Amino acid sequence: ASNDEGLTVTLRPPCVVGDKVEDIDTPALVVDLDKMERNMDKMTEFMKEFPSCKLRPHAKSHKCPAIARMQIQRGAVGVCVQKVTEAEAMVNGGIKDVLVTNEIYGKTKLKRLASLASKARIGVCVDSIENLRQVSAAAKDQQTNIDVLVEVNLKMYRCGVEPDEVVPLVLLAKELPNITFVGLQCYAGRNQHIRESAMRSFASHDAMDIAKIAIKNLSDAGIECKYVTGAGTGTFKYEGGIGVLDEFQCGSYIFMDVDYCRNIGDDGKQFFEFEQSLFVLSTVHSLQGGSMARAILDAGIKAIGADSGPPEVYPWKDLVYFFGGDEHGIIVPPGPYKLGEKVYLIPGHCDPCVNLYDWIVGIRNNVVETIWPVSGRGPGI
Ligand code: PLP
Ligand code: MN
Repeated sequence: ASNDEGLTVTLRPPCVVGDKVEDIDTPALVVDLDKMERNMDKMTEFMKEFPSCKLRPHAKSHKCPAIARMQIQRGAVGVCVQKVTEAEAMVNGGIKDVLVTNEIYGKTKLKRLASLASKARIGVCVDSIENLRQVSAAAKDQQTNIDVLVEVNLKMYRCGVEPDEVVPLVLLAKELPNITFVGLQCYAGRNQHIRESAMRSFASHDAMDIAKIAIKNLSDAGIECKYVTGAGTGTFKYEGGIGVLDEFQCGSYIFMDVDYCRNIGDDGKQFFEFEQSLFVLSTVHSLQGGSMARAILDAGIKAIGADSGPPEVYPWKDLVYFFGGDEHGIIVPPGPYKLGEKVYLIPGHCDPCVNLYDWIVGIRNNVVETIWPVSGRGPGI
């Protein structure tokens, strides 16, 4: 792209394939490919416990078609996205089945969404008559079809209608042209991060009880609901056992982060069913000794994201990272680090962290194996 001064702005990757980790310019977003692939394989194993459920991983975690393709190779039926920009990135990257697990409001965005429906199956959530009419009109304009799901509020109080408001919306969806009612979006967001596993399980039952009311209301009205989708990394094991969901939308399992690993697993230990594979790689660019010994890093709030607290220093859990400002991180004590040394940081929350980067650097055995563009990054216009 060129700016007004005629300067060419290139999105320069921080390394080239074959570089050693020491050669990667920082801050850089790095994924340990062995760990990420093990997480994907582990999820494939988990899915065998739920033979009637399919996996549709959430691509908002990686925003990267290459990773989506790896998930589909391992049996995922398609991906979820949250934004039209993410849907565009996925379809342009060859993904043939994309579900927008969100409401998309307004002509401009819906025109773009509808234009993708000639290249892939596109589904979208709705929770109002006005929006449903918009989706239908946009699909009709482009002479295409969009699948619609009615989103149900599972007492999470984000988007979604109450169970007794589902039937009228579905009846209208069945009347309007160029859309197909396919099922219900039943995702219980806040339950993912309930710390105790028993409490996550109880909350999952409560959430699915609400979904069951919506399904019964439909069947009482003579409408069969064949497809209910929901669940994330924190709840799929519990919701999957209840028998309501046909599909899981887990996203974070491929990367994990500090916050997810604060969940407690069924064994009463920290939730490490999946491995932390994602890191912000940074460099010690100042090392100060004496009574206030510390290592100062080139990765601060702007390189990591701060909504779930500071990152952890890998593999030295006893070293504490403090945000030192927009562009600084401070490690106290400085531990084994030397000036110029690379430091691996595990982000507090993987999704917003990935969104800060143009590239994901895939490493294996300390060598750069691949550099993927984060094609769907940005606030998601
Ligand atoms: N589905 C929806 C609708 C979401 O909003 C999210 C994440 O917030 C997910 C799935 C994925 O959840 P997780 O990253 O916890 O696996
Ligand atoms: Mn998240």
